Amino acid sequence: MDFKLTPEEEAFRDEVRAFVKEHLSEDARKDPNFIGNWLKAVREKRWVGFNWPEEYGGGGGGIMEQVILKEEMSKAGAPPLGTSMMGLQWVGPAIIEYGTEEQKKKFLPDILDSAYQWCTGYSEPGSGSDLASLQCRAVRDGDEYVVNGQKIWTSGAAYSKWIILLTRTDFEVEDRHKGITCLLVEMDSPGVEVRPIKNMAGSSHFAEVFFEDVRVPVENRLGEEGQGWGVTISALAHERSGISEVAGLISQHHQLVELAKRTQKDGKPASEHPGIRARLARADAIIEGMRLNGQRFLTKQLKGEKLSSETSINKLHRAFLAVELGDLALEIQGSASQYAESTNGADGAGGEDEGRWVNGALGWPAVVIGGGTPNIQRNIIAERILGLPKD
Ligand SMILES: Cc1cc2nc3c(=O)[nH]c(=O)nc-3n(C[C@H](O)[C@H](O)[C@H](O)COP(=O)(O)OP(=O)(O)OC[C@H]3O[C@@H](n4cnc5c(N)ncnc54)[C@H](O)[C@@H]3O)c2cc1C
Repeated sequence: MDFKLTPEEEAFRDEVRAFVKEHLSEDARKDPNFIGNWLKAVREKRWVGFNWPEEYGGGGGGIMEQVILKEEMSKAGAPPLGTSMMGLQWVGPAIIEYGTEEQKKKFLPDILDSAYQWCTGYSEPGSGSDLASLQCRAVRDGDEYVVNGQKIWTSGAAYSKWIILLTRTDFEVEDRHKGITCLLVEMDSPGVEVRPIKNMAGSSHFAEVFFEDVRVPVENRLGEEGQGWGVTISALAHERSGISEVAGLISQHHQLVELAKRTQKDGKPASEHPGIRARLARADAIIEGMRLNGQRFLTKQLKGEKLSSETSINKLHRAFLAVELGDLALEIQGSASQYAESTNGADGAGGEDEGRWVNGALGWPAVVIGGGTPNIQRNIIAERILGLPKD
């Protein structure tokens, strides 16, 4: 891979930098409608879904420009380009790859406009890591499927309008992966019930979702009947690809270094403690490894090849870093790290950066477990990349 940008790519990077400077200035951020203005401006630029086809409202941009865009946005600490996170990250790409013309016209512009939220109905009480064992049943009845079953850990279910749902349509097939079908289901369909679950940080980010005789039009099937596993593998590869995440990690690491420099520990800046320096350096080396690995994914994509198992490598490192950076931030701050807000200590002490580090440390399961646990990533790397035997 050639790491140098072409003159056109450099010009695009400069355009993004100028845009960011104008739209993320201190004045712009003070505007009460800052987020609304921001979403409108990036949408007008066609930078939301920048590499999606133009006929469905995307930017029709190249993969390289997409990467430049994400990196520059991340460096500038920009808000997301849309509020439909799952829609943009994997539902939209799955619809582009597997959807019918009608589905593309119906869903893609709404995702780009952040019109509503999507959630993902894969996991079930007995099927998490071993997703292919899923039991939520969809039975064809004329022009509809009738869905019965339960999903769990469904992020954003309480405020989503649609769910991308994996169901079993064939219980007889020998290969379990072949009897799975993906449906797009409206969350306010009769028979759908959402029961929020509270996590250890106190928020109800995810939920259990129950389906009782829910009727879903066949036109809302994504891909062919029995092809749901392929749709999911593609969607999970998008979830795990993480090129943009690396830019976010670089910025998080940078902020952690700043935190260590300005926090006093045993009478000197925390950044001067050898143990803390070593951990910061180790994290930096891993992030750099992830960045270079991201370039490998990028090279593959630029050659028109699909991403698959290799994205598990960065997903695994990301899991380690979620715990390590969270722990390190708490250690640097010492007892002040226990404050979740900036000025709530009786002695005037408070958590740094509005308590974001302690909240980040409490949020590690979201990054470590969501999208597949570390052990599962290790299995994927061992079997599909290194070709090690399964037993
Ligand atoms: C914050 C968060 C958000 C989530 N959001 C969603 C969502 O929006 N939609 C959704 O569908 N799901 C979601 N999930 C669920 C997530 O995908 C599952 O929790 C995950 O796949 C693990 O499944 P499980 O919880 O059933 O654990 P299990 O599969 O029971 O695993 C338990 C332990 O056993 C290990 N293990 C299991 N099988 C093997 C094996 N073959 N080899 C080695 N070790 C193994 C695992 O690594 C883990 O440590 C979310 C989870 C979290 C934490």
